[in-house]
Amino acid sequence: MARRKKIYEGKAKILYEGPEPGTIVQYFKDDATAFNAQKKDVIDGKGVLNNRLSEYFMTGLNNIGVPTHFIRRLNMREQLVRSCEIIPLEIIVRNFAAGSFSKRLGIEEGTSLPRPIVEYCYKDDKLGDPLVTEEHIAAFGWASQQDMDDILSLALRVNDFMSGVMMAVGIKLVDFKIEIGRVYDGDFQRLIIADEISPDSCRLWDIETGQKLDKDVFRRDLGSLTDAYTEVARRLGVMPKNATQITRPTLIN
Ligand code: 5GP
Repeated sequence: MARRKKIYEGKAKILYEGPEPGTIVQYFKDDATAFNAQKKDVIDGKGVLNNRLSEYFMTGLNNIGVPTHFIRRLNMREQLVRSCEIIPLEIIVRNFAAGSFSKRLGIEEGTSLPRPIVEYCYKDDKLGDPLVTEEHIAAFGWASQQDMDDILSLALRVNDFMSGVMMAVGIKLVDFKIEIGRVYDGDFQRLIIADEISPDSCRLWDIETGQKLDKDVFRRDLGSLTDAYTEVARRLGVMPKNATQITRPTLIN
């Protein structure tokens, strides 16, 4: 079999050229990084879980008419996605104070926010993804005013969907990060949700106990990340019958 062309390797994923023009194969690695890759580890099975969970969320979004790049899952670690031009912004939606927001504004973690707050960070690892305002985004041409209107609307729709899905399984969606890409249909440009939606990019707390079921478990050394992500997958019913199959994957590619 011919070797696939690697397009990009990031901290948690590898992108390969897809089988048809306009497609990409997104491979989920087991690597976990935090604090701009100052903390690193390999977490057995994380890639398998995130592949499944991102499939679950993206499929749900596609089904309610929120466009995403997701086409189909190919195997345990890979999914076929639509190629798009990533807007160089991380879009963060917060329902409760946590993480950098709590630090920046001195608001205790877990404080309910009066309404969802949307923030934008400039995607640049060397700079540590700094917070930017719409002024920066317009001045540097990262997105137009129309794009910003669409981005806000997409981010809030993702928040509504994700909050509801998580609430139904006893989990509070504290905050999350999404990335958005442009696709061109003829002369028209559309925005779609890209990258991944998984416990790597969300804060998820058990409603009853407050237990963290997201990447903060790794960032803050709170226990087993695989157990936390497996619990999210189990509650959502996206676990294969045999749990060891997902945490100790043997199938790669
Ligand atoms: P914070 O700004 O509090 O560190 O993060 C807010 C939310 O966005 C958290 O759910 C966090 O996981 C997510 N997030 C922020 N930056 C990144 C990033 O570079 N990668 C990933 N995967 N998630 C991020």
